[in-house]
Amino acid sequence: MEWMMFIDGKWTKGEREKTFDTINPTDGSILASIYESSVNDAKEAIKAAKYSFYKDRSWRDMDSQTRGDILLKIADILASRKDEFARLEVLDNGKPLREAECDIDDAVHNFRYYASLIKTPKGGVYEVNEGFGKMHSYTIHEPTGVCALITPWNYPLLMGVWKLAPALAAGNSVIYKPSPYCVLSSIKLFEIFEEVGIPKGACNLLIGGADVGNALSESMDVDMITFTGSTKAGQAVMRNSASNVKKIGLELGGKSPNVIFADADLEGAVEWAMIGIFLNQGQICSAGSRILVEESFHDKFLKRLIERANNITIGNPLKNPDMGPIVNEIQMKRVLDYIEIGKAEGAKLVLGGYRYTEGECAKGYFIKPTIFDACTSDMRIVKEEIFGPVVTIQTFKTEAEAIEMANDTPYGLAGAVFTSDGARALRVIKEIRAGITWINCYNPCFNEAPWGGYKMSGIGRELGVSGLEEYQEIKQININLNPGIVGWYEN
Ligand code: NAD
Repeated sequence: MEWMMFIDGKWTKGEREKTFDTINPTDGSILASIYESSVNDAKEAIKAAKYSFYKDRSWRDMDSQTRGDILLKIADILASRKDEFARLEVLDNGKPLREAECDIDDAVHNFRYYASLIKTPKGGVYEVNEGFGKMHSYTIHEPTGVCALITPWNYPLLMGVWKLAPALAAGNSVIYKPSPYCVLSSIKLFEIFEEVGIPKGACNLLIGGADVGNALSESMDVDMITFTGSTKAGQAVMRNSASNVKKIGLELGGKSPNVIFADADLEGAVEWAMIGIFLNQGQICSAGSRILVEESFHDKFLKRLIERANNITIGNPLKNPDMGPIVNEIQMKRVLDYIEIGKAEGAKLVLGGYRYTEGECAKGYFIKPTIFDACTSDMRIVKEEIFGPVVTIQTFKTEAEAIEMANDTPYGLAGAVFTSDGARALRVIKEIRAGITWINCYNPCFNEAPWGGYKMSGIGRELGVSGLEEYQEIKQININLNPGIVGWYEN
């Protein structure tokens, strides 16, 4: 098949008809050849979305029950094609099959969740008496307009759906630009959008990198931009968005603390710590990449963590090992570079630290789970997001010290605490400056719960009710209950 972009209701090769290859990270082979969008293609997509929202209006003006029904149809079709989507995600991204299957299930539920939310109109009515006499004041939620959605490669389909489902549910016209590294499942999703009859121009798909992203964030005709990716690129998006003071949502990087007290359940803490850092090969924004463990528990905890992490199976992700390859060669090299930096900084490498090439992994981009002990807060491997299966271990003596170390980062995406003392768990979690937190677990994520970061991890929230409101403007409408003279002026 030909992998193309989708603009104004049509599949197109773009103005340049230029392709690039996407690579299967399991063996380095070429997976597909994909047509790449240019800046002019981005302009065409913006024009189409603008026409769709402001002139055609058929998606925006569709009653919310019908729009919700269309989202439900998308969910049903996606569910019926789960195996195909999961397999494609594995080939393109390298995540183990069972993780890809969970992603497709989550995407299906996300469409269903926002279909049901949009079918339940929101708004409040207030009776007010403010000097001018009695009035009714009420609010309505309106779509924001032309929305540009930019996503990374770590959850190729799911990160897109987190934006597409609420943005479309709200009645916006969208331009979606996934990461060019993993675009195949997004193209397939747009086939479903076409099949269910979303009106032309209301959903557009661009395939490209920063130049296309810049065209979207700089445009005077885009009303909102929502971006998931690195903090550095997010800052560029934010700067460009000043052009027309776009509404903006940013889901950025993290360096999240996983705080483990000596009274924690050892086996539970070890297993969740592994889920925290080795799921999706550690390529998770919320990864528990900094383990802070109470000094008296350190030896016991670390011994067990090394034993279990050493047994993690690595291999062809279609065969469901615990870990597959890193997404691509560039990212693998980036992670391996950080491992060298850690060694040079004096951190103690206690597991892994190398490219894994055994058996069928010879040509792929695999990395052995890596643990650095004896880390200190000034090390780059402790401060910077690595985005791979690399975890640092630090120790603390007191609760106050643990909190200080946990918050010693410019990021504020996630964090967890492990303890059997309920009051302490609540005390510590309240002090952690992060938007997503867990007690005695790490990484579970729900469509109903708002997701987003403090500090340099972002602005706004996805998922939950707030995830829909991100794509809406709230208008107040005030009605005078006593038309006629107010008597404000004496003459
Ligand atoms: P990235 O910032 O390199 O790219 C993300 C997306 O932005 C891609 O589509 C890319 O093409 C585009 N892009 C790059 N430069 C741009 C620019 N100047 N203007 C507009 N668009 C631009 O990130 P990545 O390597 O694809 O993904 C990894 C990063 O994503 C990590 O930092 C991770 O923490 C973050 N992430 C955050 C969340 C969250 O919910 N907070 C979720 C997933 C990933």
